[in-house]
Amino acid sequence: MTFKSLGLSTSLLHAIDKVGYNTPSPIQEKAIPVILERKDVLASAQTGTGKTAGFVLPILQILSEEKQPKRRPVRSLILTPTRELAAQIQENVIAYSEFLHLNSTVIFGGIKQGAQVRELRNGVDILVATPGRLLDLHQQGLVSLAHVEVFVLDEADRMLDMGFLRDIKKIMSLIPERRQNLLFSATFSKEIKQLAGSFMMDPVTVEATPENTAVEVIVQKIYRLDRADKAEFLIRMISEGEWRQVLVFSKTKHGANRLSKKLDKRGITSAAIHGDKSQGARTNALAGFKKGDVRVLVATDIAARGLDIPLLPHVINFDLPKVAEDYVHRIGRTGRAGASGEAISLVSNDDLPLVRGIEKLLGERIPSEIPEGYKVTDQPAEPKAKKEPLTRKKKESGQNKPNDSRHKRKKPFNGANTKPRRKKRR
Ligand code: AMP
Repeated sequence: MTFKSLGLSTSLLHAIDKVGYNTPSPIQEKAIPVILERKDVLASAQTGTGKTAGFVLPILQILSEEKQPKRRPVRSLILTPTRELAAQIQENVIAYSEFLHLNSTVIFGGIKQGAQVRELRNGVDILVATPGRLLDLHQQGLVSLAHVEVFVLDEADRMLDMGFLRDIKKIMSLIPERRQNLLFSATFSKEIKQLAGSFMMDPVTVEATPENTAVEVIVQKIYRLDRADKAEFLIRMISEGEWRQVLVFSKTKHGANRLSKKLDKRGITSAAIHGDKSQGARTNALAGFKKGDVRVLVATDIAARGLDIPLLPHVINFDLPKVAEDYVHRIGRTGRAGASGEAISLVSNDDLPLVRGIEKLLGERIPSEIPEGYKVTDQPAEPKAKKEPLTRKKKESGQNKPNDSRHKRKKPFNGANTKPRRKKRR
C-alpha cells in the first residue's frame, strides 16, 4: 500500500515525502479513504499509530479541493484535550499543508489570547483547539464555528476523563448539524459509544489492525521498596544502567517537582511537566527532552497523555496511577518503533491495592522483587475504618465521602503468569 494509492493529491504526497514517511500506517490505510468519501468515522487508535496524519491528510485534501471562501471561515475544527496535543497536531497540519494554500492555527489556554486572536482574524481554514479556550474566544465573539464542515474529536476517551463532556456538547451545538464527524479514541467505553451515538451518522468503524503491526515486547517489573527509598533507588537505576532518557510518572504535581529537584541536585538533568506549569515551561521541558538536553522527564498522567516522545527504552512508575487504565497508557510509552522496552514500577506497601487492580485489568501478574540491599519495612496502609451509616447532617456537610477511585482489594490472582506483556504495533 502506498500513500498515492489512498487517493491523496500530488501536493500532499510531496509533503509526506518531505517528512519522510514511506508507507501508510494501518490506521492511515483504513481511515484516509473513508474520510475522503466524506463518511463519519469512529476510529480506535492511540497516539503512536499515526492517527494524526490519518485524519489531517484527508481533511487537507477535502478542503483544498473545495472553492475557497473569501473570508476563510473555520471549515475544519479539531478538538483535543491537552495543550501539548493541540500543539503537536498543529505541527503536523503545518508540515502536511506546506504545498497547499490553506491556513491553520492552534488555540489553547494557559497563554495570553492576543496572538491567537490575531491569527483568527487573518482567517483560518483549520482550527486546532482545546475546549476551554475555544469556548472562551467564542463567547467573546472572536471565533465563528458556523462554517465547520469537518469536526474531529481527538482522544475522546481522555476528553471524557478530564470532564469535558459538557464543553464538547456546547461546542457541537455551535457548529452546523450537517457536517462530517471523526472521532478518535484509544478505548471504547459505554460513555464513548453513547457520545458517538448522540451525534454521528452511520459511522464507519476503523481500527489499527493487529495483523499489520509489528509485535513489540514490554517487559514489566515491580520493585518493592519503602516509600522513602524510591528516589535513591531511581537515581541508582539511572546511573548504574547508564540510561540515556527516562520518562517517570508521578501521582502528584508536588511529587513531580520534588523528584525533579532531587534528580537535578544529583546531577541528573530533569524537568517536571504537569498542569500547574505554565505553557512555556511545559513546551520547553518537552523540547529539551526531545532534544536530549533533559535526561529525565517527570510527568503526571494528564500532562503526559498523547505526547509524541519517540523511542523510550524505560518508563518508570514512581507512583502507581490510581486508575488502572492509566497504567496501560503509561507503559505504552516504552518500546516504541518495534524496539523492546521496560516498564518499571516502584511499589511501596501503600501501593499494593493498586497493583491488584492493575493485574486484574491486565489479566496477568507483574513479576515483583525486592531489590538487593533494600528492605520493606513500611507499615501497610491502615485498613479503612468501618464506615458508620451516613447521617443526613454528614451527607450535607460532605463528610464521609466514599473514595470512589480507591481500588478495592481483589481476590488473589491464581495463574501466575510472568510473561512479558506483548503489545501490538505497526
Ligand atoms: P501519532 O500517532 O499521530 O501521534 O503519530 C506518531 C508518530 O508517527 C509521529 O511522530 C508521526 O510523525 C509518525 N508517523 C505518522 N505517520 C507515519 C508513517 N506513515 N510512517 C512513519 N511515521 C509516521
